[in-house]
Amino acid sequence: MGFHALIIGAGSTGAALAHDLTLRGYRVTVVERGEVASETTGRNHGLFHSGGRYAMRDPEAARECAEDNAIVRRIMPGLLELNGGLFVAFNEEDLSYKDRFLEACANCGVPAQEIDVQEALRMEPNLNPNILAAVKVNDGVFDPFHFALAFLATAKSNGAKVYTYTEVLDFTWEGRTVTGVHVRDRRSGKEYELGADFVINAAGPWAGRIAAMAGLHLSVVPTAGVMVAVARRWTRHVINRLNMPGDGDIIVPQRRASVIGTTSWRVEDPDFIPIPDHDFQLMLRRAQEMVPDFNQAPVRGVSAAARPLVKTGGVVAGNERWLSRGTYTFNHARDGVEGLFSIVGGKTTTARFMAEQMANFIGEAVGVDVPCRTKEVELLPYHAYYRLGGER
Ligand SMILES: Cc1cc2nc3c(=O)[nH]c(=O)nc-3n(C[C@H](O)[C@H](O)[C@H](O)COP(=O)(O)OP(=O)(O)OC[C@H]3O[C@@H](n4cnc5c(N)ncnc54)[C@H](O)[C@@H]3O)c2cc1C
Repeated sequence: MGFHALIIGAGSTGAALAHDLTLRGYRVTVVERGEVASETTGRNHGLFHSGGRYAMRDPEAARECAEDNAIVRRIMPGLLELNGGLFVAFNEEDLSYKDRFLEACANCGVPAQEIDVQEALRMEPNLNPNILAAVKVNDGVFDPFHFALAFLATAKSNGAKVYTYTEVLDFTWEGRTVTGVHVRDRRSGKEYELGADFVINAAGPWAGRIAAMAGLHLSVVPTAGVMVAVARRWTRHVINRLNMPGDGDIIVPQRRASVIGTTSWRVEDPDFIPIPDHDFQLMLRRAQEMVPDFNQAPVRGVSAAARPLVKTGGVVAGNERWLSRGTYTFNHARDGVEGLFSIVGGKTTTARFMAEQMANFIGEAVGVDVPCRTKEVELLPYHAYYRLGGER
């Protein structure tokens, strides 16, 4: 026991993993080049998935979402807005998906219930009045920053250290074994080394670059999506279009705004994602189909981020929506590099589950047989992160 694990990246994946590993008795250091959740995690929709969005196309991811939706409700009290979601048919094509959608949800364990159209319109008076069907699911909303901070606050209370504004430049080695990382403090410019028993690459869409520092190839496909936020909450529930996931088919009430998203295209550099005007206009048009007055509201922000998806066989360029939202764990000892693991894929909603998979995997590799406790341990409030110290 007492192995020292160093995690690269403090998005939702690295944060949840820090929590899981500290509960299992590891000494944990998290190294993040920016602020906590400053990249993909901090720029996502904040949809707390019921699993409905993936039920038809990605049943494995749907099952993971449904299971963790129930668990995370217990461990994050007060942090989630459990407002529910509606999958709505706006035309005949959407309507033709309804029965298959209900069947797919049932097969994946995603609770879903058809409701009367008039009831849906009473619940959501700003919806297009010509809707043809509505199905209620357990979607919700989270603040992505708070989500990651709650995991890290709890990890800190169990001894984890978090180094923000600290960029990994390279690995340190003993032969073919990774012994730590060479970092730069982005505030002072100072460079130094941090040692560890092993390193976990949780760098999201940058995970491929981190692996390349060790001479490895990871099939990470940074897949960008655009979101447009307008003033005012136009709906109380999360509104999804009852169809296969597509461009501009979901409206999430988030803080004092409504966010329409999203698109999906492959980018070479996750640090540089220019937002095509076409995508911005498309989002507004699609939102208007669902909520006719949506475009009356002033635009509050337009953002883009890249999903850390993994290319598995069969998906060709231009079809990135077909990439699985599942979790991929790697022990690079298989590739001839000891002391280095990677975790890629998944969703913020399933970060706890992803961390459990990864910590089990690491435990098997290093011979630590301590069961996961993250299903039971209630997380500290997110703001405890700031008073607990343990940060550099
Ligand atoms: C448009 C869009 C909308 C989405 N909406 C949702 C949603 O509504 N609900 C949901 O559950 N999921 C959503 N997702 C998916 C979710 O956001 C991601 O799966 C999740 O945030 C990935 O987290 P991560 O920690 O793996 O990556 P990140 O959050 O990107 O974290 C990786 C971290 O690694 C750091 N890093 C990179 N290189 C280095 C280095 N050299 N040294 C130190 N640190 C480094 C980065 O700074 C970054 O903070 C969405 C994704 C996108 C793109």
